[in-house]
Amino acid sequence: PRQFFVGGNFKMNGSAETIKKIIEHINDAEKDPKTEVVIAPPALYLLLAREHLKAPLEIAAQNVFDKPNGAFTGEISVDQLKDANITWTLLGHSERRVVLQEDDAFVASKTKAALDGGIGVIFCCGESLEQRENNDTVKVVTSQLKAVKEKVSDWSKIVVAYEPIWAIGTGKVASTEQAQEVHKAIREWLKNEVSEKAAEETRIIYGGSVSEKNCKDLCKQPDIDGFLVGGASLKPAFVDIINSHL
Ligand code: 13P
Repeated sequence: PRQFFVGGNFKMNGSAETIKKIIEHINDAEKDPKTEVVIAPPALYLLLAREHLKAPLEIAAQNVFDKPNGAFTGEISVDQLKDANITWTLLGHSERRVVLQEDDAFVASKTKAALDGGIGVIFCCGESLEQRENNDTVKVVTSQLKAVKEKVSDWSKIVVAYEPIWAIGTGKVASTEQAQEVHKAIREWLKNEVSEKAAEETRIIYGGSVSEKNCKDLCKQPDIDGFLVGGASLKPAFVDIINSHL
């Protein structure tokens, strides 16, 4: 059975004071010990988060670069994350794909760099409303995954986050059927294109307006192995999402 996985993506929110408070709340709360929890604060606060967050909870960067070091102003390398005891990174979030214009090949190259360096990757994929309305959802998501497959063979440290763009920050969560359908298609793709083992073992988590209210139904779906939470990860309700199964 796949371990339930809940990530908190703080995006570009918080201050030293508020992030410390959020972490203390998560530390002190009663949490389902079966859930793997990873939080992703802004880069500036990774060290602060590392200092305060208690094991076994882990920390993710929101992004990493694909070169080891050098003249790359504004970027952070995999080795630097490891030096700071940061064990995960998000990659391919739609906000980076859309706002920062990262393409599939660049996201895949960064995924390879992170995995080669021993860092786990929460790989985000998902379609726009227009793509969904054109019935292109599975095509879009699998082409984003295919770019990774071209560079990566070992999927054991990848968590796939399905995040339909129209559900992100909109309060418009995917229905349990909509989410399950895409998760199932992703698992089938893994089975056909990577391996039976990858299909069985890879966590496929859902993101997009996840709340303490809708998490309980979503987590019952057979192919939903957790959540990537944005807005609600900044609130006490994040703990209720960690405890979806309780
Ligand atoms: P919201 O939970 O705020 O919709 O954000 C989802 C997300 O983008 C997580 O990466």
